[in-house]
Amino acid sequence: MEQPINVTEIFGSDVFNESTMKQRLSDHIYSAWKHCIQTGSSLQLDVANEIAEAMRIWAIEKGATHYTHWFQPMTGITAEKHDSFITPTGDGKVIMEFSGKELVRGEPDASSFPSGGLRATFEARGYTAWDPTAFAFVKDGSLYIPTCFFSYTGDALDKKTPLLRSIDEVSREAVRILRLFGDHETQRVQVSVGAEQEYFLIPKSFYAKREDLRLTGRTLFGAAPPKGQELDDHYFGTIRTRVSNFMRDLDEQLWRLGVLSKTKHNEGAPCQHELAPIFTDASNACDSNQLTMMVMKKCAAKHDLVCLLHEKPFAGVNGSGKHNNWSLCTDTGKNLFKPGDTPRQNAQFLVFLAAFIKGIDEYQDFLRCTVASAGNDHRLGAHEAPPAIISIFLGDELTSVVDSIINGTNYNDPKKSVMRIGVDVLPAIPKDTTDRNRTSPVAFTGNKFEFRMLGSSQSIAGPNIALNTIMAEELSRFADYLEKAEDFDTALQKLICQALTDHQRIIFNGNGYSLEWQEEAARRGLSNLPSTAKALPRYISPKNMELVTKHGIFTEAEFRARYEIHLQSYNKLIHIEARTMVDMVMHQILPAALKYSSDLAESINLKKAALGDSIAAAAETSLASRISECCDKLYEQAEALYRNLKNIPSNSSLEATEYCSDVIVPAMESVRKSADLLEKLTPQNYWPYPIYSDLLFY
Ligand code: ADP
Ligand code: MG
Repeated sequence: MEQPINVTEIFGSDVFNESTMKQRLSDHIYSAWKHCIQTGSSLQLDVANEIAEAMRIWAIEKGATHYTHWFQPMTGITAEKHDSFITPTGDGKVIMEFSGKELVRGEPDASSFPSGGLRATFEARGYTAWDPTAFAFVKDGSLYIPTCFFSYTGDALDKKTPLLRSIDEVSREAVRILRLFGDHETQRVQVSVGAEQEYFLIPKSFYAKREDLRLTGRTLFGAAPPKGQELDDHYFGTIRTRVSNFMRDLDEQLWRLGVLSKTKHNEGAPCQHELAPIFTDASNACDSNQLTMMVMKKCAAKHDLVCLLHEKPFAGVNGSGKHNNWSLCTDTGKNLFKPGDTPRQNAQFLVFLAAFIKGIDEYQDFLRCTVASAGNDHRLGAHEAPPAIISIFLGDELTSVVDSIINGTNYNDPKKSVMRIGVDVLPAIPKDTTDRNRTSPVAFTGNKFEFRMLGSSQSIAGPNIALNTIMAEELSRFADYLEKAEDFDTALQKLICQALTDHQRIIFNGNGYSLEWQEEAARRGLSNLPSTAKALPRYISPKNMELVTKHGIFTEAEFRARYEIHLQSYNKLIHIEARTMVDMVMHQILPAALKYSSDLAESINLKKAALGDSIAAAAETSLASRISECCDKLYEQAEALYRNLKNIPSNSSLEATEYCSDVIVPAMESVRKSADLLEKLTPQNYWPYPIYSDLLFY
């Protein structure tokens, strides 16, 4: 029998959350903190001091000896530097101390983080500042303090700061719209996000033997095993004991950290699994997803497994992504993407829907860029993931509503007069019929939109910053127009009809994987940016630059820095992958294949010596000559790849990205092809590392 887990008791027990604060802080300090997060004002030092003291006592009770300012640099991972609480007392002893200053502000000497040119070395300092809207927690003996990270000159050096800015911005613009519909109660609109996380688990012993997995997180070689995922016997299949033990452990740790882990199941590819949380506010969801990825890795190690978060760890089977469920919700608890019960509520729903459709169409390239990475290039457009073309799936009911608004017909009876927004009743929009099409990059799923192009290892901050900012922009334009209108209902009808008519092209309910869709999308003028190298230049287009600067999400320099870092990450990663490939070919693959072919030659000689020269030894001879040819080819290809690596432009420019994409990636593909053929021709006991059938069907 399993040890029972008292979930309600342990949930959030390692988090210094609101209820703990209420318990441990004096009333006026608690109120001061609450006031500060509600109004966005800054914390007074005496308040910070008392919070820090309460946090320290609580954290030490939980086993902490250190604290760390936890931040999310532009590379999309998280960073931490740990300081102990010790202070010497002068008599050879120490006491444990933690001040308000240390809580609120840190200087992690983070000069080695890429800053995309935002920081010159003479002002290399980066500062971290506590984000009091996110709760501190204890993990592995440290008190983690979620922080924002910025430069000496005040530029945001992280993903958290712009995310918080975009959340404020969309809230402000959404409230303007709500006021027009007579809502004077709502003070804030929250962005709600639930990120479904896919991952692979493989045995640690196999992982340790593969240089490619260790250095790059994915297999750079590997012939397809006789069986892949064609039988669909893994998806939602019985979870094996070793994995379910891992999942149980993972859930327990996540619950302790206040992560709302809800659903777990096997995914499409062998060894692939998924975790889905219950949605929460976007900032929290972002932290939670980072924590989830972190805990997954640590927890796997405890079970002698390795958790692979790479977008495409294995060729030939599904890669891993992340579905970002996104919606807007008032602080009074109303979901703004939920079709209402009355014509008035429906009209409001249609405003938000029209703004979303218009925004996604106008900024499709921006959204596409937020999921562009070397890892995701293997997925987007491949069969398991949405194509690189952005489109929105609305489902039949909502699409016919949109059609009737555009065509000026009545939804219920096309012969009847025009459907009047705000007057006529909308059809019921059933939730379950809306989610059939898993091939669309953006899908309306009842009361939220699901953005499905995210890579499994990426931070969800970037895509949510884009969604929030795009929405803020469209809502602000709508509000500008409607606030000035003389006749609200007429203006509303005109506005929604115009937006839907102009941006109808982005709606597509068919099969996103089909070739016909690519052709159709081209006719509609939708952008198709199949790779990172093709996508990234569009990121900083004047239109996108204007969007983010107008709303104060990024300064021009901050936005450019993100662009540079995306290029840099891509270039560095391809470089490491290519070098690892060459290394494995020269040190492992060629020696193994050459050894086998020389053993074959020797056995041919032995056979002839024993049985006479007339004996054919046809199998050995043919095998040996095929292997020999293949080795020659592989050697040549690896040499060529190595030479090409020297030609990569050395700076972190687009030119280097294009070179990697056009020259290095295809060269890597050729190397892989020859190596995988050799793997098929060589017995397993000669092969230097575990092959796909070992890794995927252990
Ligand atoms: P599925 O997509 O498997 O049908 P659900 O639609 O119930 O399952 O939820 C998928 C994910 O969407 C979950 O992480 C869930 O918490 C999240 N989600 C549900 N409602 C919302 C919402 N209003 N805003 C953001 N995310 C949501
Ligand atoms: Mg989903």
